Amino acid sequence: MMNIKPLLFGLTSLIFPSNCLVCKEVLSGVKSVDAVICETCEQGLKPNTQPFCPKCSRHLKNPTLDVPCSECQRREPSFNQAWGTSFYNREMKNVIHLFKYRNKIGLRHLFQKQMVTFINDYRVPIKTFDGLVAVPLHPSKMRERQYNQSEILSEMISRVFNVPVLKNTIIRAKATKPQALLNEKERWTNVKDAFRIRQPLKLEGQSILIIDDLMTTGATVCEIALTLKNSGAKDASALTLAIA
Ligand SMILES: [Zn+2]
Ligand SMILES: [Zn+2]
Repeated sequence: MMNIKPLLFGLTSLIFPSNCLVCKEVLSGVKSVDAVICETCEQGLKPNTQPFCPKCSRHLKNPTLDVPCSECQRREPSFNQAWGTSFYNREMKNVIHLFKYRNKIGLRHLFQKQMVTFINDYRVPIKTFDGLVAVPLHPSKMRERQYNQSEILSEMISRVFNVPVLKNTIIRAKATKPQALLNEKERWTNVKDAFRIRQPLKLEGQSILIIDDLMTTGATVCEIALTLKNSGAKDASALTLAIA
């Protein structure tokens, strides 16, 4: 008879990693699905906190009541509203990198905890949206990377809040350069006209929530919001794991 023990062990360690996905420290204590990194590493991750910019949720150091942040004042965002659930500090940058480029997909359990806590704490009206749209990768990128981190996040949010993911709604028609390698001005030109709605999809009157891992300048999210609105969407807002 085939010995299934190693297989079972393999499966359990896939679900509950025995080592921290960041520093590889052995994980002790109660095993739960979201315990994928050690306490020390988790302490470095900080949730986004009030006071928020009323438009983009960037943390405001010197808030004037209900006045948008300097970024939103300089360039009015094309999204209705955006929520970023964690600060993009050094530790967050590292876990996002592992999630995106190092196949550490198990980190999604931690991200789910962070995003769901924020959504509940600040009453983000997830259920008022008709659907979620993940920021798409260009087909060439998708082949190279095998998975889309934003899609993973959107599927998670969809399961928890029972809002459908609108798959293949939007495609990345232009193979853009990685935003991280560009300065602020270049980021806006890089994503200009980069996305297309799959025809003959109609978004008339719909409220759509764009899901991504990170918002820095907001250029990508704004370009997608604009594309969705040009196709008739009434509301295009965004929810990202981290905000810089
Ligand atoms: Zn660790
Ligand atoms: Zn703002």
